[in-house]
Amino acid sequence: MYPSAQTTKKLYDIHPYEKTFFAEVLSCRKGERSHQGQFDIILDQTLFFPEEGGQTPDLGLLAPAAVPATCSADALSSNQKQAPSQSEPTSSEQVFGLKAVNSFDQVNVLDVKIKSGIIHHFCDSPLAVGAHIQGTIDWERRYDNMQNHSGEHIFSGLVHSAFGYENVGFHLSERTCSMDYNGPLAQKDIDRIELLANRVICGNRAIDCSYPSAQVLKQLDYRSKKELSGPVRIVTIPGCDVCACCAPHVRRTGEIGLLKVLRAQSYKGGTRLLIACGTRALLDFRRKQSVLEEVSHLLSSPQEEAAETLTKKLAEFSSLKDALHEASARLLEYDMVGLDPSAANVCLFENGIDPIRLRNAVNRMTARHKGYCATFNGSDADGYSYILSVADGDARILNEQLKEHFSARGGGSAAMCQGSLRASRRDLETFFSAL
Ligand SMILES: [Zn+2]
Repeated sequence: MYPSAQTTKKLYDIHPYEKTFFAEVLSCRKGERSHQGQFDIILDQTLFFPEEGGQTPDLGLLAPAAVPATCSADALSSNQKQAPSQSEPTSSEQVFGLKAVNSFDQVNVLDVKIKSGIIHHFCDSPLAVGAHIQGTIDWERRYDNMQNHSGEHIFSGLVHSAFGYENVGFHLSERTCSMDYNGPLAQKDIDRIELLANRVICGNRAIDCSYPSAQVLKQLDYRSKKELSGPVRIVTIPGCDVCACCAPHVRRTGEIGLLKVLRAQSYKGGTRLLIACGTRALLDFRRKQSVLEEVSHLLSSPQEEAAETLTKKLAEFSSLKDALHEASARLLEYDMVGLDPSAANVCLFENGIDPIRLRNAVNRMTARHKGYCATFNGSDADGYSYILSVADGDARILNEQLKEHFSARGGGSAAMCQGSLRASRRDLETFFSAL
């Protein structure tokens, strides 16, 4: 049974910058449903932020830890009380008074969920109930989430002030940070909010996370006010945003570094935005710069003129394509003239001819030849599309033979069939001459 009289102590709430912590295993049982094959481990306290409020969970490790003989549960809790404030980070060893054992038997935390205040760590191996463990969170992942989540608050706070919209759909994972606002935002509005958000970031404002009293809360104007009851954690960015939120945040806005809107689209009458903050924004910039450099190199054009150069190249490509079609059509006429007028069955091999022109050609061939008339359009390497017809007979008979001999895919009527196949021109010509 899960402990019913208590909830998991959320260390990430008090120490969002800690990377390791010590805890006791209260329960360990086999995971169910989507966590089948995993172990559902409950600790008395944790730094692992669970999947909550649209944010994906922290991942990391749990490993057995040695407990000093003098270190009782009471000592543990009194040590926690003396824990320094968020602005004075110390190591977990100083805070919690335990030492980690070597990382033998460590287990991987693959998912973290919260249910009725109890945090479930889904791990790849079990841990003994009553064991003392050291947990280590994937700090890069956590800090990336903190930068992006704090960035989202700034952007949403500014959108709320300027337009009165709510962020009605927030999603933060290792790949995506997206917000759905319940109103339209023009590109110029998005650009302006983005600029203002980056000014708030440069202002290096302190971000406060606290639980105001019920009385203070009642008077407070904050986002997400309607849905919540009980103790509410309020995240305040002075002059920018006040919002109810359960997730860890950076201490100061300057730590976000940069906020960039990557994409905007209309969504359910509102606007869906994709943003990147901090290191994620830097990596995104690096990827895009690398693409632009390659494109610019391929076009032999300065980066700033790449789009203009590409537009010109595409226009050139389009007119070359038209010219090629024209030349191919003339070649088709030439090939038709070259067909033996006394032959009953005839076929032509072309490449890059549009289907209407080919169908007309097959009709003209059928008027002159008594047997099967076909065009194969394509190449040995890419395969052929074909159209076949017969003046007096059933084209489907030959179509069935093509299916049988060349695994062709296609169908049609007695007058005309079409399809595609993969074969060499030589084999097809041999097949046709044997008809
Ligand atoms: Zn939040």
